[in-house]
Formats: sequence, C-alpha cells, structure tokens
Amino acid sequence: MGALRRAWKAVLVVSAVCAIIFSTRQSFRASVPSLSASATSRASTDTCKPGLIPVTIRVPGGAIHVSFAPGPFDLREEEMLTWVRRAATAVSTYYGSFPAAHTRLRIVPVEGEEGVFHGTTFGERGGFTRIPVGEHTIAGELESDWILTHEFVHLAFPDMPKRNHWIEEGLATYVEPIARVQAGQLKPARIWRDMVRDMPKGEPDVGDRGLDNTHTWARTYWGGALYCLRADLTIRQLTDNRKGLQDALRAIVAAGGTLDKQNWPLERTLRIGDQATGTTVLEQLYAEMKDEAVQVDLPYVWKQMGVAVHEGKVNFDDHADWALARIAITQPRPMQPVQISSELSGQTTDDRGDAAPSSRFP
Ligand SMILES: [Zn+2]
Repeated sequence: MGALRRAWKAVLVVSAVCAIIFSTRQSFRASVPSLSASATSRASTDTCKPGLIPVTIRVPGGAIHVSFAPGPFDLREEEMLTWVRRAATAVSTYYGSFPAAHTRLRIVPVEGEEGVFHGTTFGERGGFTRIPVGEHTIAGELESDWILTHEFVHLAFPDMPKRNHWIEEGLATYVEPIARVQAGQLKPARIWRDMVRDMPKGEPDVGDRGLDNTHTWARTYWGGALYCLRADLTIRQLTDNRKGLQDALRAIVAAGGTLDKQNWPLERTLRIGDQATGTTVLEQLYAEMKDEAVQVDLPYVWKQMGVAVHEGKVNFDDHADWALARIAITQPRPMQPVQISSELSGQTTDDRGDAAPSSRFP
C-alpha cells in the first residue's frame, strides 16, 4: 500500500484564485441537464383531461406513492411505472434499501413534447419528487433515462444549506450511473466513458474559491462528483478495497441522514460516513476542497484506474494499479445497510482510522 499511497501524492496540484459566483438559494434539488424552459412551462398543471390513476410502488426499504398530473401520455401507465421501478431499484441496490420509507412522486405531462425533463426533489414529509415527462415520450426514452434515478439519490442525504449544495448534486451525479450499473441497467464501460468525458467539468476555473464558495453549475454538479470520485478511490486505497464511498453513504442513511433532515451540519454527516469506513477521508477531503481551488490530475487517475477512451471506445487495463478499485465501485454489494448510530461517539478526527494526510488523496 505504501507505493500506492505515494502514487496518490503525485495527483494533486492546488491553486487558489479569487472571485466568487453566487447563485440564489434553492430549497430543492434540481437534476443536471440543460432544460427546455419552454417545455417546462408547458407542463400540465391545470387541464380538464384526467390524470392516470395513482398507485403505490414498493421496493426494498420503501414505498413510492406515484400520482399523475392531469393530461395525456402516449405511453400506458404500466410503462411509466416500469420506469419508476427501474430507477427505484437502482437506488435501492446502491444504498442496500430505498432511502425513504414513504416518498411521493408526481409525474407531470408536458404537452406536445417527448422525453424526461429535469426533476425537483423536496425533503418535506418523507420526500417529494416532481418530474415533467413529455406527452409523446416513448418507452426507449424512459429506459435510458437517468434523471429519475438522480432525483431518488437526493433522498439519501440530509438537506444542506446553499454553501454545501455541491455535495448533494455531486453525490447524485456520481452515484446515479454507478447505481444503474450495480442494478444491471448499464455497462461499466458506458459510465467510465462518460466520466472521462464529463469529470473535467468539475475542475476549478479562474476565480474559484473552493466548493463551498463557488456556486457555478459545473462546480456544483461535477465539482461535487470529483469530490466523490476522490473519496471513493481514497477510501478503497486505505482499506485495501474492503470499503468504499458506498459504505459511508449507506451508513449516513442508516443513521437517519435523509433529505427530510435539515439541521445536519455537513461535517457531522461526513463523520458518520467516515466512521463506517474507519477512515477520515470524507472529512479531510472536505477540509481540503471547501475553500481552495483543488485541481485533480484526472488523466493520471484514469491511467491508474486502467480506463482509456479512444474515439468514444473504452479500453480497460485490469492490471493497472487501481483497477481493482474501479471494478469494485461498480460491483453490487449485499443489500443490508450498515447500522451506525446518529449519535457520534465523541471521537475526534485524530482518534480514528489510519488517516492519511490530505496529500495522499487523489
Ligand atoms: Zn440534482
């Protein structure tokens, strides 16, 4: 492990610069994609056409109460519910069980459009997701949709203030494709190809002042995802691949850290995750990245993970130094969630694990 730890050290280049871009606080979590504003504005909210019949979908750990805003869909209701089940199954698979015992989902038809538009998820009363879907959406578009899975991932972390919004979106961005692979809905090659393409968007730009202070779209979604990737790889390095970010996130949910919780400071939440892995990775990476523009040497990371993309085609090197970590990230884990008390033991960062200095992190 010594050689590997030394290898991490080469990954970091830190730079700090000035200026902050602020955005207004949002009390909900919106999904990543660029959105057709016109389509959203046409989302049916008050039409005399009846909606489909409400139904409750049960998945391991939770029930999703699905309702439909008035308006027509070309698809049959059962086809829509298959889409909901698929997203819920991916999230249940990743977290070991669905992160909300009872959550509500409102599907809103968008007149004359097709495809899934950005959703919003609120924490109130166990969670509520609203997602616009085009009237003329076809089954294949629902089958390839990632947005609903992204929204359900939001249920699995406490509600954070604006400065920490990046962790919520970063987790949803990072976990969503991995959860879908673990559930057998995507191939690993697809998500690593996409991450190689998209993860550089999370790197700090000129004027960046760290994740807590730079509220751009790229830093919120992909900067947060970059934090998650570093955390996952580092936990796996420090635990000889026995633990990963997934174990930390399961522990946070098991301790009650879900979206309906509003007064969970990020440090406390991360500490619960760190306890589950016996490390201090989440806390240390947060301390490092929250106020500083931390650049990650992504080409080095992909090389170490054994991921190469050429003309859109992925080649894996399973003999690369971190190949086992890459493989483990997308392997399904047992469904039982980790049980960790939400009452912290009073340990300090220095008391726990074989914590590594931040310079060892990728
Ligand atoms: Zn989101």
